[in-house]
Amino acid sequence: MSSRTDTSSAPVVHGLSVTSLTQCAHWHSPLDIIAIKHFCCQKFYACISCHDAEETHESGVWPIDQRDEMSVLCGACKHVLSIGEYMNSESRCPKCAERFNPGCKNHWNLYFKLGSNDSIACGRG
Ligand SMILES: [Zn+2]
Ligand SMILES: [Zn+2]
Ligand SMILES: [Zn+2]
Repeated sequence: MSSRTDTSSAPVVHGLSVTSLTQCAHWHSPLDIIAIKHFCCQKFYACISCHDAEETHESGVWPIDQRDEMSVLCGACKHVLSIGEYMNSESRCPKCAERFNPGCKNHWNLYFKLGSNDSIACGRG
């Protein structure tokens, strides 16, 4: 379709072979369209493997009390979700309804500190 012009405020996404949808060399299915800002360096990376490839420090996880940080970028519409918003999104962008990879849930603990109330298997709707 025609180009969207409202992406000027979209954050820069770092990583290996990052596409305009924020897919990367590691994760590049049609569903792998989110980038996550890392707590440690406050940079958006397409995935944690991209982070580790480009950074020399260990990646940090977001504390539970910072769930309202705007840290998850939808590569499809460039909408930025808060961590809590993303976790409750049911693997779908609340803005453009594009689907996210539900398998990302298995990796949440690499990016976000999880509490005992966070059921990865079946979150409460
Ligand atoms: Zn970092
Ligand atoms: Zn990657
Ligand atoms: Zn979206």
